[in-house]
Order: sequence, then structure tokens, then C-alpha cells
Amino acid sequence: MKLSSVGESILRAIEEFEIIDAHEHLPPESVRLEHKADVFTLFSHYTRVDLWAAGMPRSREDAWGPGIPGDYWDMIHNPSIPLEKRWEMFSPYLKMIRHGSYARPAFIAAREIYGFDDINEKNYKEVSERIAAENRPGIYRRILREKCRIRVALTQHNRTDYDLDLLIPLMPLDVYASVRSRKTVDEHAARLGWTVRNLDDYLEMVREGLEKWRSQGVVGLKMSSHRFLKPSRSRALALFDMLMHDDGKQLPFMNPLYCFLVDEILKMAANLRMVVAVHTGMWGDFRDLDPQHMIPIFQRHPDTRFDVYHLGVPYVREAIIIGKNSPNVWLNMCWCHIISQRLACTALDEMIDLVPVNKIIAFGGDYEMPVEKVYGHLVMAREDVAKVLGKRVEEGFMTESEAVELARMWFYENPRSLYQLKV
Ligand SMILES: [Zn+2]
Repeated sequence: MKLSSVGESILRAIEEFEIIDAHEHLPPESVRLEHKADVFTLFSHYTRVDLWAAGMPRSREDAWGPGIPGDYWDMIHNPSIPLEKRWEMFSPYLKMIRHGSYARPAFIAAREIYGFDDINEKNYKEVSERIAAENRPGIYRRILREKCRIRVALTQHNRTDYDLDLLIPLMPLDVYASVRSRKTVDEHAARLGWTVRNLDDYLEMVREGLEKWRSQGVVGLKMSSHRFLKPSRSRALALFDMLMHDDGKQLPFMNPLYCFLVDEILKMAANLRMVVAVHTGMWGDFRDLDPQHMIPIFQRHPDTRFDVYHLGVPYVREAIIIGKNSPNVWLNMCWCHIISQRLACTALDEMIDLVPVNKIIAFGGDYEMPVEKVYGHLVMAREDVAKVLGKRVEEGFMTESEAVELARMWFYENPRSLYQLKV
């Protein structure tokens, strides 16, 4: 991105920062090393949404004929299918998505990590060979610590076995809140060595489960915005008793027991000083993920600290106003820069007007397998922050050193302080 001279100067300062990456789905490095990495690793994760939207076939009959499992997406990531065949399936759609924000981290990683100015028909085999050769022990440290200057990344992959010097886990709140059958209760009880007879036993066990996570380095719980029902202990009790007396009973995802347990766990989170991260917006029928569904919950739990992810896209302004009105809500731009750089810049500019600067978190890569795209995303986040702040300086709203200080808060100080990280 071409920036003004003051924007460029701010960008140079940001590039010197240590970063706290405030949201990833990275598994431990061993999982990445087992993955057969190739050029398509660069087009894993979010680009699938754009590839499908561009018309990439999803049914196997369209793609390869019967007998081969999966759709085009699965097939381009299936190393048992020849690379040439996979490229042939993929390349018509690459043309359609290459200028979008989802695709840009792939091209940045190709250029700045693997040394290729483009990814195309002529070089895809060579790109694949390079990526495979670099997929060796230490890849996380080389990319995250050395290339990105990430001090720590908060990650959520439903596990706790991390090198805590680099990756700090959050765990899904639904592990304990979503009790849809007796089986879930029995599994937790067996794992934690409890006998659960009633709802109060279950809640006590959950508290011990959360404490255990805390002792393993978990700093927060992750949930999603939904149309939650008002919590009712009596309705939850009735459902819990019903499950415990009927092995075959299965509750739907949204039910009064779930809503009650979410609410109880949010109280425990405050008590255990665990942050609650909230996914908002984007997926599928995103109306169900509207950040506004969370307003009563934020108000009911003033002592719980919430980290609202993704600015509720497309309900960006709604999410920002929630952050403005709620002392217990932070606004985390994880995923935003690769959804749209323009949208991220507009949102950040409005946040400067609307929200105290200690409530803004600038970056979370939000990737699982393609660790190299974390770097691409970070490049985009730095550009966006430098661009917005540069314009503020040019318009006379702040000095350049004030701008750099804000960027430092957003990329480091705010996530460090919210999650009470010992870095
Ligand atoms: Zn995520």
C-alpha cells in the first residue's frame, strides 16, 4: 500500500514494535509439521469462502467424478491428487479472488517469506517445493517471532498443550456450557473424577475445570454471539434433571440450560480473571451472530471482561457503539484487515472518534494451518493503522509521536493489559 510520507514514517516505527497477536487458531507446531504443505497451503483457511463464492464447485460429481471423496476445496488440499491436476482445478478461481483482502496474505507470504513475486502457472511447482522445504521444526519461531516480531500469540484450538513462551491458549466456553445430553456430563465427570448428581454438582465441577485450565496457562474463554434466552435457573434445573434421568434425550443447540450455563460460566470467568472473547458477525446467516445479541449479557456481567472479535462485521458501527457504552467491552480487530482493508481503516478511524484508545486491539491473524499468512495479515494491519494515523497527523489532530504511541497501545499494550499477560 502506498502511504503518505508521514504514514510511511509511522509504518517504519510500527515495524520496530513487538506485537501481541490477539487471536489465532494455530495448533501446536507439530500439527503444522505433519501437514503436507504446498502452494495450496497459502490458499487454505478464509480464501475458501471467496473461492466458493466465485463459483468453485462444491459437489464431487461436478469436480472429479464419483469415487473421490470431497469437493474441489477438499481436493485441492489432497496431496494424493497430482499437483498439476489440483492447479488446473484451482487456477480459474484464483483469477477471481486475487485482488480481494482474503487472498492478499498469500501473495505477501509468497513474496516476503518464500521469495516469489507472484503465484502463477509458471511457478506454482517451485513455490510448492519451497514451502515444503521450509515446513520443518522451528517454523513457528522463524515466522511468528523472527519475521513478525510477535512476542506471544493468543490461540484457540481447543487444546492446552502449547509452548507458552510463544502461544497462549483460550478455550471454548461451550465445552462446559453446551450440555445437550447426559453423555456430555458423564464425560466431563469421568475426566475430572467427579460424581455429578445434580446441576449444582455440575457447576462446582465446571468451576474446577476452569481452574484447571487457568493453571495450564489458559487466559480466556471463547464464545459466540447468539440470540440467547434470558437465563432461568428453574428451567435449567428441569432440563438438567430430565437429561440425567433419560440417557436418550438430546437437546437442541439453543436451549434454556445452555443459556443458564453460559451465564453462570461468565460469572466464574470474572472470578477467575479470565477474559471472555466473543465471536461476532461474518459467517453464514450472520444475523444470528449480530453483536447486539450480547448487549444484555454485557450489562448483566459488569465484572466480566469481554473481548469483542471482528467488530461484528457487517454490524461494525453497532459493535463500536457497544464498546463505547460498555466499560467491560474491548474491540478486537482480529480478522478485520483481511476481510477488507478499506473497511478496517474506516472502522479504526471512527473508533478514534468514538472509543477510548485503551479499548482498541489492532491485530489477530486468525489463522489455523497457514502460519505464514499471519505475517501477510500483520503487514496489512500495520499498513491500515499507519494509514489512518498518518491521515490524522496530516489533518492536525495529533502529532506523529502521539500517533506512534497509539499504535503501540493497539498492537501491544492493550492486549497485554486486558489478558494480564506476563510479557
Ligand atoms: Zn477466529
